[in-house]
Amino acid sequence: MGKATGFMEIARIENPYRDAEARLCDFEDLHRTQPADARRAQASRCMNCGVPFCQSDFGCPLHNLIPEWNDLLYRGREREALERLLRTAPFPEFTGRVCPALCEKACNLENDATTNRDNELYLIETGFEKGWIQPRAPKLRTGRRVAVVGSGPSGLAAADYLNRLGHEVTVVERADRAGGLLMYGIPNMKLPKSVVARRIGLMAAEGVRFLLNTEADPAALSGFDAVLLCGGAKKPRALNVENAGAAGVHFAVDYLTAATRAVLSGGEPSVTAKRKRVIVVGGGDTGNDCVGTALRQGCASVTQFEMMPAPPVDRAASNPWPEWPRTLRTDYGQLEAICRQGGDPRVYQTTVKRVIADNGAVTAVETVRLKGFDPIPGTEKSLPCELLLIAAGFVGCEESTADAFGVERDRRGNMMPLDGSHHLKGNLFSAGDMRTGQSLVVRSLADGRAAASEVNEFLKG
Ligand SMILES: Cc1cc2nc3c(=O)[nH]c(=O)nc-3n(C[C@H](O)[C@H](O)[C@H](O)COP(=O)(O)OP(=O)(O)OC[C@H]3O[C@@H](n4cnc5c(N)ncnc54)[C@H](O)[C@@H]3O)c2cc1C
Repeated sequence: MGKATGFMEIARIENPYRDAEARLCDFEDLHRTQPADARRAQASRCMNCGVPFCQSDFGCPLHNLIPEWNDLLYRGREREALERLLRTAPFPEFTGRVCPALCEKACNLENDATTNRDNELYLIETGFEKGWIQPRAPKLRTGRRVAVVGSGPSGLAAADYLNRLGHEVTVVERADRAGGLLMYGIPNMKLPKSVVARRIGLMAAEGVRFLLNTEADPAALSGFDAVLLCGGAKKPRALNVENAGAAGVHFAVDYLTAATRAVLSGGEPSVTAKRKRVIVVGGGDTGNDCVGTALRQGCASVTQFEMMPAPPVDRAASNPWPEWPRTLRTDYGQLEAICRQGGDPRVYQTTVKRVIADNGAVTAVETVRLKGFDPIPGTEKSLPCELLLIAAGFVGCEESTADAFGVERDRRGNMMPLDGSHHLKGNLFSAGDMRTGQSLVVRSLADGRAAASEVNEFLKG
């Protein structure tokens, strides 16, 4: 175990955010990192409790061996700690940056949890820096060919695992860059795209083939021994109000994709918040990414509407530890808005009733207060708006891919096989958000691995 008394002697210190005003000037990484001795001190706070909930189903979907690698890190045995981490975590450089760290919320130290996510990030980045991470192509090939459709975290985790087992893996991706929402979705300041490209390069060097700009075509994939569908669940929930199709109304992921493309190319984004009054419909994480992006693009103002009431500040009795706490969180974008605008951009129990357009372009929105899901008459307000972003959640995977492969979607719009496995029919499998609905990177990684394991069993006959 780390240091028996570490958690009593040393305070939890997370990787600090860069100063809000400074980070609003660029799309660079949000956080600053800490040196090795600080990291070791943080690792020593893990007390290897008898029942480590951090690595249980409550904590880590990958079942990372958290107390073990924290202990090795504390003792300065960084390379061994990294190897222990990599036994279960395929891409710690992603989870170390974007995971909400369910493990920390399940830690016995509760609000004072060990900084597992920062420790994980330190280990993998140290591994890259010191050259410990090198391409490791399998020595033997099985001669079995697997096509993975989609290069998001589930597709990448599955491809990585199947390739290591010696199968020949081809990832088919319709976008021009691999990574799924890691590339076009999660903004650069949360996950620098160079980090995604570095992993794709490594996987390519290990023998995984990436076919980009390619729509999955069942006929073209008929020569593969197995096909794993990892196409995500990006079908957005629409805003069913008057003038929702006006110019200046965009779905969040389309807007965030355009923003990332501009960051990567250095040009102007095809949709920009510059000098516009921005309204974001949806108070969740995607909405927060829109707030942070709009502020960086130089918006005139940004407001975020949420239908639900604000969550409680402390855990409700019905939401005990070690469950994920459903409490009020103020994320980086909202903190930046507070810094820039002097107030929280979130307005609760309110929605957009009508889009007001002039010459086909949005000029304002009419909002209304809600009681439950019912509008309260007489509470309508008009707010000027030149960019309206819809971040109201997702309603499953696209019909087009399901139809092309002759798969029926379940009532939630996903491709979850009836028996709860990953096997759809014949040699066809599904994984990630496409199977479960919009989720988290860490859950997609775990699901991709689980699916790969089923594919491997299938290939072995
Ligand atoms: C804006 C945003 C921010 C998020 N931030 C976080 C976060 O900070 N932390 C976190 O844990 N989770 C976050 N998530 C959730 C997380 O990104 C997803 O749960 C995860 O990416 C799902 O992985 P996936 O592999 O299943 O699908 P995706 O990442 O959606 O990848 C699917 C890929 O399949 C491709 N594809 C689809 N159909 C076809 C086809 N027919 N042919 C070829 N290619 C196809 C798509 O182009 C895409 O690249 C966020 C989600 C969004 C929308």
